[in-house]
Formats: sequence, structure tokens, C-alpha cells
Amino acid sequence: MDQRSGRRKTKNYAMPSFPSMATANGRNIGQMADAIDRVSCAIVGAGQAGARAAIAMRNAGFETSIGLFGDEDLLPYERPQLSKEFLLADATEPALIKKRQEWRDLDIAVSLSIAVRRVEADTRQLVLANGKTIGFDQVLIATGTKPRRLAALETTDIPVHYLRTAADSLALRRSLRKDARIAIVGGGVIGLEVAAAAAQRGAMVTVVEAASSLLARALPCPIAELVEARHRAAGVAFVYGTTVTGTQQGAVCLSNGNTLAADAVVVGIGVEPEVEAVCGLGIADADGIRVDPQGRTALPFAFAAGDVAVQYSPWHGRWMRIETWANANAQAEVAARVIAGGEASHNQAPWFWSDQHDLNLQVVGDALGSETVLRGDPEPHKAVMVALREGRVVGGVTLNAPREMAGLRRLVRSRPHLAPEVLADPTTDLRKLVA
Ligand code: NDP
Repeated sequence: MDQRSGRRKTKNYAMPSFPSMATANGRNIGQMADAIDRVSCAIVGAGQAGARAAIAMRNAGFETSIGLFGDEDLLPYERPQLSKEFLLADATEPALIKKRQEWRDLDIAVSLSIAVRRVEADTRQLVLANGKTIGFDQVLIATGTKPRRLAALETTDIPVHYLRTAADSLALRRSLRKDARIAIVGGGVIGLEVAAAAAQRGAMVTVVEAASSLLARALPCPIAELVEARHRAAGVAFVYGTTVTGTQQGAVCLSNGNTLAADAVVVGIGVEPEVEAVCGLGIADADGIRVDPQGRTALPFAFAAGDVAVQYSPWHGRWMRIETWANANAQAEVAARVIAGGEASHNQAPWFWSDQHDLNLQVVGDALGSETVLRGDPEPHKAVMVALREGRVVGGVTLNAPREMAGLRRLVRSRPHLAPEVLADPTTDLRKLVA
């Protein structure tokens, strides 16, 4: 590729076109941006959606230059492990989505360690944190989200952890020592996965949750209760209807008037879209960036994908961010194909999984619906629920029943009208209910 003009000279993806990178793991390749003035497609954000989009663009035959811009100092990596096995491992780096040489072979310019400060519509250029500008023809915004901060813990002498990056996960791992007292604020996916890892490392864990049950916005009560029971059996304690108001002499102060002695606090109270760099484009609001099923924003040259994108979910019946690994991949693939000149549409039902202790939890669509149906009798560590709204199947959840989830995903995709008693019968084969 001619780095100045941004045009690919050859279709041979094996031709390395980067300046050499400083280390094998990709650190310091942020200087990559110094060698580029213009790219055909700029991807802002080198997380799951950004990386997947870059790869998919090449697979879709996009032959001109692609620049992938991230502000972390690692090559794009898999995030799901950060709140799970990476907390229990010895490895100092998470699994990469592609190795350095593979990015080179794809002829994708990966620029790390420098944030994109601004994306400009009129000049069609990125402005990096160091002032450098890079022109583009099309741009894909994949900036993701950042953890919501808890103002009450901004000044404290107890270490406070948020979890988004590999560096966050490494720092948290150091706090999860045997017998350490860990207070977790938020009983969502981050809070519960960290609780499981911390308990496994021998820490003493208490989860402080504002709502009256766990994962209240994603899980029906009977499943949340089974998840809670498994955590309790592993020694995790729960305080509901409560939040943290500050700290005092090595203890966390709770809104119910109690205090909780803590060696470290983990905050997992949700996320906010990372839209600062694109404010000037006029396509973002406090929720994120609205996109159509092709990933297009209101600007003809700008696309968005992943956690930052706000899309219409027919399963939930509303516009929303879908903050999952699966959505990041699927939406990025679609946007990439459209950017490359093809046709594609994102129509996968939202789906995520969570591993906690020996539980595998999977959720598809809107698992709350307006009515939920248990399939058969739940066992302590195994259950399947289907959610309906106005008689249509809109979601479901499985606990240690991945095979049932395969059928549920198929079912939820087409949102059929089905009688609750048919779904409740455990002998009904879900896979056979839709053609
Ligand atoms: P979640 O939205 O999943 O959960 C946050 C929880 O914190 C909610 O139950 C919320 O209650 C509660 N909460 C909010 N404010 C307070 C407060 N002040 N005090 C106590 N509790 C509070 O967010 P997470 O932070 O857990 O996860 C962040 C993102 O990471 C999510 O987008 C998630 O999808 C993603 N992620 C996904 C994983 C997976 O797919 N397995 C794993 C890890 C992360 P309420 O609902 O009442 O506001």
C-alpha cells in the first residue's frame, strides 16, 4: 500500500507494508499513524467490533487501504476472558484476535496507543491526540463504551477497580488474593463474573446491588435466584436495594447505614457510550450512535458498530445498545460488507453467555418479555425459560443447557406465536417448532 495516498498497490495481502513494530506483542506500534496520511476506510476503535470489521472488509474484497485506530497499547484482543479466566490465569496478555503478522498479511494498518481526539465531517479527517490528521473516505465508529463511574468512590484510600481493558483486569487480578475482602458494587455480568473468579481465588466477596435481584434487567427472577444460590454456596454474600455512599477507615459505607470492611472495591454498574471523539459529527447522543440494519449512521460516509451503536431490537421493541461480544462481531461484519460495496443486513437476535462457577448462563433476545414460561422443572443448576410478548416468543435463557439454547436461538430469530403450554412441555423439541 502507498501509505501516503492510501491506495493499495497490490492484491497480495502477504505483502508487509508497515514500518517494523517495536515488539512481538504489538506494543509501540502506535507510531504506525506517523506513516499514514490518508486511508480509504478509517476504523475508530480497535476493540472487537473494529477488529472484526477490518478483517471482514478484506474478506469482502475491499481492496483499498484500511486503518484501524486504537488507544490501548495491545493489538486487538478478546474481551470476554477479562472478567472470567484471565482473572484466574498467570498470563500477562489476553488472547489476541489476530497476531501481528496476520494483521500485516491482511495489509491492515493497526495504529495503537494514540487516541482519536476528533472525527471531522467537513474535512473528512481524524485528528489524533498528538495533533496528526488522517484523511478518510469512509469511517466506521467502533469506540465502544466505558464503565460508568461511581462518584462516591472517586476519592478513597481503598483500591477501586473498574473493568474494561486487559490492564484493568491485570490490576484487579492482583487484588483478588486469598482472604482479601472484596466489595463488588453492581450485581450485573461484570459483578457476578468477578465474584465467581474472586471466590475461586479464595477471596471473601460481598456483592452490593441497587435492585432487588441480580441481573434484573436481563434475567427472570427464578433464574436469578438459581444463580444467586450457586454464588452463595461458593461463599459470596449479597446486599440488595443498596448502594455505596463512600468509604471510611478501610470500609465501604452503604446507603442502608451499614459499613463493609474491604481491601478492594470492584465497580460494575453499567457502561456509557464512548462518543467524545465523534460529538462534532452530529450523529451521537447520550445513548450512542443510531444505526440502521446496515450499520449506517445519518451521515452517508459514516458507519457505527458494536457497543456504541444504538439499533432497533424487534425482540425488545425499542432502540437500544446491545453490549455483547456476539453483536459486536455480527454488526461489524455487516457494516464491513456494506462499506466494501456489498449488501448485508444485521438481523441476529441479541445473545450473550456468562460463565460463573460451574454455571453456563446464556440469554437470547428479551428474556423478560411480558410473560415467562419455565420448561419442565428447574434443577438447582439447570433450567430453561422462554419469554413471550403478545403471544410471540421474544427471548429465553438457559442455565447449563446449551443444547436447548441452540433451539431457542432459532426460535427467537423468527418470533413465532406459540402457546405457553407447548413451550413449557420439556418434551417439545424447540428446534422443530420453526421451519
Ligand atoms: P450491567 O448493566 O450488566 O449491570 C450493572 C448492575 O449494577 C445492574 O444490576 C444495576 O442495577 C447495578 N447498579 C447500577 N448502579 C448501581 C449502584 N450505584 N450501586 C449498586 N448497584 C448498581 O453492567 P456491568 O457493569 O456488569 O457490565 C458492563 C458491560 O459489560 C455490560 O454492557 C455487559 O454486557 C458487558 N459484559 C458482558 C459480559 C458477558 O456478556 N458475559 C461479561 C462482562 C461484561 P440496575 O439495573 O437497577 O441499574
